[in-house]
Amino acid sequence: MVTIIGGGIAGTVLAGALARAECAVTVYESQPTVGAGAFLVLDGRAHAALAGLGVSLDELRAASHPLVGLRADDLPGPGPSADADRRLYLRADLMRVLAEFATDTKAELHYDTTVTDVDTVTGTIFSGDTSLPADEVIVAADGIDSLARRRLEPDRTAEYAGQIVVYGITERPVQPHTDPSVLHFHRRIDENGRPTTTFGHFWNDTVAVWFIRLTRQELAVHDIGFQPVGRWTEPIAAGAAADPGLVAAMLAATDTVHVSNARTVPLATARAPQPPVILCGDADHAITPAAGVGARDAIEDAAALYAALVSGGAPATAMTERRRQILTERAQAARMFRTAT
Ligand SMILES: Cc1cc2nc3c(=O)[nH]c(=O)nc-3n(C[C@H](O)[C@H](O)[C@H](O)COP(=O)(O)OP(=O)(O)OC[C@H]3O[C@@H](n4cnc5c(N)ncnc54)[C@H](O)[C@@H]3O)c2cc1C
Repeated sequence: MVTIIGGGIAGTVLAGALARAECAVTVYESQPTVGAGAFLVLDGRAHAALAGLGVSLDELRAASHPLVGLRADDLPGPGPSADADRRLYLRADLMRVLAEFATDTKAELHYDTTVTDVDTVTGTIFSGDTSLPADEVIVAADGIDSLARRRLEPDRTAEYAGQIVVYGITERPVQPHTDPSVLHFHRRIDENGRPTTTFGHFWNDTVAVWFIRLTRQELAVHDIGFQPVGRWTEPIAAGAAADPGLVAAMLAATDTVHVSNARTVPLATARAPQPPVILCGDADHAITPAAGVGARDAIEDAAALYAALVSGGAPATAMTERRRQILTERAQAARMFRTAT
């Protein structure tokens, strides 16, 4: 009954949940396996939504790392109050749990199958010259460069958010003199109170990860993706506001980094959702990684679509309500940022 384009975070968890509710679901995912990339943080809301969809919290906990707080090390005090259910995941570990949740069901998961075109009026989808069997509802969870969004709303393209992001996972344990299990931020702030560079790191007994966001020109497509760390050592050392010894230790223990442009998909101007093709997650409203909520938003979309689909409700109405909520929350976050600076 439901076809999902994209077996990333939202597509996979939605497929697993629908199949467990006896709803026929087929997923087409372009990658042979999903989960490459860096690491991400899920908050209590994301975990509540995952649990509501039937994903085991025990398995999620076993696959992730407790995060006891976020701390801007350039500010006095402990930083924002802790969310007891906030956890850090290597993306591969999160996707392993979600993929097991979905493959353990009757959901039909077709990896290595790129959807190359979508007829948004008839709901026909194609992979090359082949027309794929599609259903009356098509959920396009195909990420920030969504093909479905290109077909539905060609002008609503992802916009560069002004920063590049470099993410590293160390090959060897690194245990600096900062508090463990805390996501530390070290920022350089401009005269308007905006961070121009943010170096972040997290470590515990088993993992050490770091990232940097650098304000600079957008990178060309061929400069994005996994790369040897060497190319980035100098700009990171020059840009990072953190203790140079800490930065050097993290870089020295890292072989490969993942580099990307921070981008946002504008939502305020979006066309109203209409069947048969409904956008979900980053395909509809990706937000810069600096916000740290994109995956949470995608999971909550999956939860809203699931609730609509299993109760006979309209997925377009569910996504209209999700957009309203997301826009309200983003406006609140922007107001808080202005008040805090
Ligand atoms: C560096 C970085 C750090 C981040 N950190 C955080 C964080 O800490 N917390 C947080 O909440 N969010 C974070 N995010 C955002 C988060 O990763 C995304 O919001 C989330 O992955 C969106 O999930 P999704 O399922 O919508 O899309 P994705 O997870 O991107 O999945 C889309 C899937 O669709 C597939 N696909 C694309 N096109 C096609 C096609 N034509 N045919 C078939 N399959 C296709 C792709 O291969 C992919 O598997 C971060 C993002 C980045 C880039």
